[in-house]
Amino acid sequence: MDRERIVPSGLSAVQARALDLAARAARNYREGLPQQKARPTLSLDEAAGRFLGDLPEAGIPEDEVIEQIVSDAEGGLHKMAGPTFFGYVLGGSHPVGVAADFLVSAWGQNAGTSFETPAVTGMERAVCDWVIDLLSLPPESGAGLVTGGTVANMVGVMAARNALLAAQGWDVEAEGLFGAPEFPVLIGQDAHSAPFAALRYAGLGARRVQRVATDDEGRIDPAAFAAALALCQAPPLVILQAGQINTGAFDPFVDLIPMVHERGGWAHVDGAFGLWLAAVPELAGRLTGVGDADSWAVDLHKWLNAPFDAGMVIVRDRAPLVAAMSARGAYLPDTTAHWEPSDSTPELSRRARGVPSYAILRHLGRAGVRELVARHCRLAERIAKAVSAEPGIGVLNEIHSNQVAIACGEGPDGDALTMRVLRRVQEAGRVYPTHGEWAGRKIIRASAIGYAMHEPDADLLSAEIIAAYRWCLDNPA
Ligand SMILES: *Cc1c(COP(=O)(O)O)cnc(C)c1O
Repeated sequence: MDRERIVPSGLSAVQARALDLAARAARNYREGLPQQKARPTLSLDEAAGRFLGDLPEAGIPEDEVIEQIVSDAEGGLHKMAGPTFFGYVLGGSHPVGVAADFLVSAWGQNAGTSFETPAVTGMERAVCDWVIDLLSLPPESGAGLVTGGTVANMVGVMAARNALLAAQGWDVEAEGLFGAPEFPVLIGQDAHSAPFAALRYAGLGARRVQRVATDDEGRIDPAAFAAALALCQAPPLVILQAGQINTGAFDPFVDLIPMVHERGGWAHVDGAFGLWLAAVPELAGRLTGVGDADSWAVDLHKWLNAPFDAGMVIVRDRAPLVAAMSARGAYLPDTTAHWEPSDSTPELSRRARGVPSYAILRHLGRAGVRELVARHCRLAERIAKAVSAEPGIGVLNEIHSNQVAIACGEGPDGDALTMRVLRRVQEAGRVYPTHGEWAGRKIIRASAIGYAMHEPDADLLSAEIIAAYRWCLDNPA
């Protein structure tokens, strides 16, 4: 045996150096963010080319690997963790969550079962308890910490599938979907793409769902919904939305969910980001009735700013959740409060994904969570007010939460102008919004959600959009 490989400390000097280098590099990266451009300075080919090629026969020492990764990644990272990232709907990986995430990897826990790693179990259960409580959802619910909103939607849909088919005398977990009775699936016209993926993964098909008409803000129209429900031949699965991706709007839960239940149906809420408004007393009224649903999907890597990737599925009745997910193959009533990872998530082996969220929740406390969500909603108002004060720039949505849909000019020419303005803002590299489509228009979509985002960042975004717009008018394409 190679005696040099025997390392009494558990870590060789080179390995220890690798850990220290990584921690140092992580800190340097975050401290250096203000000086960085808002977007990568390298193209995909340039950046990816640094890593591609045949795997060399000989390896290299651990510390060198880390040094190389750090230097090769330079220019190829997006400033998503900074306060100037307004694209998509992404959290900024709160530093306390990042620090806790180091521990997750170092501890090397397989968090698939609760009894093998009791400390991790304690933290994950606290996250489930706290999030359910913050969002005013039923405390007895089952919950699973998953990779994000899409998987949380999938798990919710699979729990619904189990319950709705069981009510028709069919055990889907045993018999599968071949020959199963049918149930209708209803979803709003302006739903996110993720629930459609969830329906595909659950074998329910993305195209056979019935899309229900929505209003100008993307909210399901209760009359159209009642008409669609009346045609249902069996108790339906209904997918509602808390936070439309372009408008940030909420379906009228208080009207819709009782109708679903009257028909014996299951109401699932895709609340990836919007459900967090339920944690803010003065904003929670916008989601009245949401707590009466049967299942909810919410991201932790969006508004909670947990490092990627983290989401949560919450199911009022644990039994169908466990029946759908349990890797033990059969439903065993567990003794844990409201979850057992391998019984409520698709993974068996899994990262201790709740630990960073635990750290963030402990750091923020209830007041911090409320402040974060309320601040971003105010920033969205502020951006909408500032850009719409410029003649020729319009905001196409009411501000329901943290999303702003911005369009320049009118009609097809306006669409081209909007895209030019967006490109110019992105190329200037001081802020980074992304595009979308809303109300038949191409839009610049701004999402206020990063933990470090404050008034000056919102004002910088507005100023950049207005300056780019004026420049584009002065310099026709
Ligand atoms: C982001 C988002 C999703 C998907 O969540 P991921 O974490 O990206 O998988 C689903 N629905 C809505 C409304 C979202 O904003």
